[in-house]
Amino acid sequence: MIAADTLPEAAVSVPVAIAHGDGIGPEIMDATLAILNAAGAKIEPRPIEIGERVYRSGLSSGIGDEALETLGSTRLLLKAPITTPQGGGYKSLNVTIRKMFGLYANVRPARAMAPFVPTLHPEMDLVVIRENEEDVYGGIEHRQTDDVTQCLKLITRSGTERIVRYAFEYARAHQRKRVTCFTKDNIMKVTDGLFHRVFTEIAAEYPDIENEHFIVDIGAARLATNPERFDVIVLPNLYGDILSDVAAELCGSVGMAGSANVGDDIAMFEAIHGSAPDIAGQGIANPSGLINAAIMLLGHIGQGAIAKRIQDAWLCTIEDGIHTRDIFGAQSVRCVGTSEFAQAVIERLGRAPSRLASPEIGRCIVPEEKREATSAGTVEKRRVGVDMFIDWNDGAPAELAERLLAIDAEPMRLTMITNRGTQVWPRASSSTRCVDHWRCRFQSETPVDGGAVARLMAAIEALGLETIKCEGLYTFDGVAGYSLGQGQ
Ligand code: NAD
Repeated sequence: MIAADTLPEAAVSVPVAIAHGDGIGPEIMDATLAILNAAGAKIEPRPIEIGERVYRSGLSSGIGDEALETLGSTRLLLKAPITTPQGGGYKSLNVTIRKMFGLYANVRPARAMAPFVPTLHPEMDLVVIRENEEDVYGGIEHRQTDDVTQCLKLITRSGTERIVRYAFEYARAHQRKRVTCFTKDNIMKVTDGLFHRVFTEIAAEYPDIENEHFIVDIGAARLATNPERFDVIVLPNLYGDILSDVAAELCGSVGMAGSANVGDDIAMFEAIHGSAPDIAGQGIANPSGLINAAIMLLGHIGQGAIAKRIQDAWLCTIEDGIHTRDIFGAQSVRCVGTSEFAQAVIERLGRAPSRLASPEIGRCIVPEEKREATSAGTVEKRRVGVDMFIDWNDGAPAELAERLLAIDAEPMRLTMITNRGTQVWPRASSSTRCVDHWRCRFQSETPVDGGAVARLMAAIEALGLETIKCEGLYTFDGVAGYSLGQGQ
């Protein structure tokens, strides 16, 4: 990330894909484009169609080949919110775009505009940096038995390194003092545990920036009651999704916040809110979230001075009390609709705010030399067993164990059975409610080859038991890469 004032202003127009979106999308996009135009932004809009109409035309991804081609060539997208139709079969377009184009960092600033916009936290000024590709957002879900569904949570070392390094680089470039990490590693010791561990490792490379970690539940509580104490927060995808909305709302309205979704050489800019179908078509939506996203876009493409000009005019509009309904309060002077708000911003171009700070706007990418993974190294990976998941609904855990113990599982032996993660054999509590989904752990003192796994699975099936899936148990340099059962 390079400071805006070190960047040359672009001399020629930059092609940018523009998606008008659904619900309030077209209204706030028209308002934003009018401001960009009036401010002299050097962009060449390339409209693309994505979202509800594309879904309804039969494309379950919500995006067609033509739009993908435009995106692939512009490498930049300014996107209004879209509506994901409810019901099965439709994939979230936002997640698809983020993942297809490797937009791994989601940057969501949340700054109070006190006293002009009502908030309980006038000093609040933080940035949520959300990992944008992993966690449960892979959408890898299965119904495995009559009763049981599962969603796969994936956290990678390489993905975590990238997002955590991004957060520290962002903090450094924006003169922020502290990076805070939230995880739930007291429960998810392998996945969230990795995120926390990598955070600690990378934090050591940035001695000039403070670092701290909270378990996400108390972290979220502190964010809700004392957001002023936070500066930059980096966190896995799902927690980031939820808590960045909380942060925006604490500032006064979810309608105020913009965001950047950043990859190595491609970026998408959008408001953090959705398509607000409840107020669509009424001309009352606050366009500020998308305006702020467009400001971030201009900074990103080297048009920092124009970005600042728009930001100043927007801040003046807020200071002058020209407010949309969602932020209307004691300090407001006039309640305006979407296009009137945009017009007020345009009229203030060239003015500077008198009370609200107007920071420089820079690029949002991490310099190339900082992108390398630091931790590759060779590890000795060894399979030492398997968890066989079995669909069974015919009796007590001890009966299942008795049948499995009769199998020749060499070189493995049955060591544990859990139900919904809780040990039910060899130790059991009479209160554990069991469902039709059993994890049967087979372990070995010596390495286990694929043939042994296949033989074991065939032997279980030969008993008339259905193996839903088989998960390998591995050690890495002798350290177990799997969790214990609850109660083990
Ligand atoms: P939402 O953010 O659209 O609306 C939540 C509430 O905030 C509503 O009361 C709405 O009126 C209000 N609001 C939102 N933006 C506003 C603005 N600019 N000005 C004034 N008020 C505003 O969330 P939702 O209702 O949960 O979702 C609606 C649809 O949006 C869903 O289909 C969802 O999938 C989609 N969505 C899209 C995106 C995106 O495209 N990035 C993000 C979130 C949700």
